[in-house]
Amino acid sequence: MKITAINLYQIDLPLHEGRYAWSGGNSVDVFDSTVVEIETDAGITGVGEVCPLGPAYLPAYAEGARAGLEVLAPQLLGQDPTRPMQISHFMDQAMRGHHYVKSPLDVACWDLLGKASGQPVCHLLGGRYGDDVALYRAISQQSPAEMAERCQHYQAEGYTKFQLKVGGDPDTDIERIHACADVMRTGDTLVADANTGWTQHGAMRVVSAVADLDVYIEQPCPTYESCLQVRQSTARPFVLDESIEGLPPLLRALADGAMDVVNIKIAKVGGLTRAHRLRDLCAEAGIAMTLEDTWGGDVVTAAIAHLAHSTPEAMRFSVTDFNSYVTQDFAAGAPRRTAGRLAASTAPGLGVELDHSALGAPFWRTAT
Ligand code: MG
Repeated sequence: MKITAINLYQIDLPLHEGRYAWSGGNSVDVFDSTVVEIETDAGITGVGEVCPLGPAYLPAYAEGARAGLEVLAPQLLGQDPTRPMQISHFMDQAMRGHHYVKSPLDVACWDLLGKASGQPVCHLLGGRYGDDVALYRAISQQSPAEMAERCQHYQAEGYTKFQLKVGGDPDTDIERIHACADVMRTGDTLVADANTGWTQHGAMRVVSAVADLDVYIEQPCPTYESCLQVRQSTARPFVLDESIEGLPPLLRALADGAMDVVNIKIAKVGGLTRAHRLRDLCAEAGIAMTLEDTWGGDVVTAAIAHLAHSTPEAMRFSVTDFNSYVTQDFAAGAPRRTAGRLAASTAPGLGVELDHSALGAPFWRTAT
């Protein structure tokens, strides 16, 4: 099979809640997503999606994804997309770094391998563990009372895992964590995710003020070294996210015992090829994972579902379904949550079909 053309689409994804706010006063009202469609000489197409959490989160931004794709995509024409690991290797030779640019191309190749072999992507990544996967809900940064109300709202929709966006003023964050811990039920999971927003001394104050609560602490500070200091000063279970952008930082963190859970985002690490490689390493090491992406819509959510569903249940700490946060659908067959849970499609590939009426015409195309 050979790649004959690659189309790029841009789509705006507004939020049901109007705004998503996290650490450092950052917020997004409308997500800017880029969808990749790979055409082949076999007459089948593969799809991928990349949607950075705005330019202020990781070193990634929507216009950068599109600029990078316009450089990389023409070099994939004529290549066999049913060898996604070889394509991933090729992309690393053709462009240094820029994992998020490569991610939608890599995901589209896994979609094509699945369609060509008649297998859902989760089978290609390792299997299908359980009937479905439990989702977490991110609680946008608001007042303590509003965040506790949002937790209860999503409890009523079936969610049992809640990730609070903290990383603001430490005193207010202590109130946020206490207010939300007060509404947790037996069996619920509460994570306080600072998204790098605290100074080391601020983080030390927060972890001691919540020492008696059943709460996980996620990525308190910008640097790995500060996170490690905080980790070593608290008995609360600890999650690393932004510091773990690939294999070298993961190996260091595993050797240092720097976390109990790690957050693997598909675009952050460069696609499903790397995400499942890191996933398998963490599972072998006994480190559970949050499996997700930076943001996205139907195609990102499908890719997350396949990665999560192919992960042993004990190693699946939490998973999210971004397409339920946004008002715009653009793919038939995308997984939809039921009572706080999600299942990967059983159809070949990712199991999604682009809705071209929602996406409009491609803004860019390369072809043989
Ligand atoms: Mg996080």
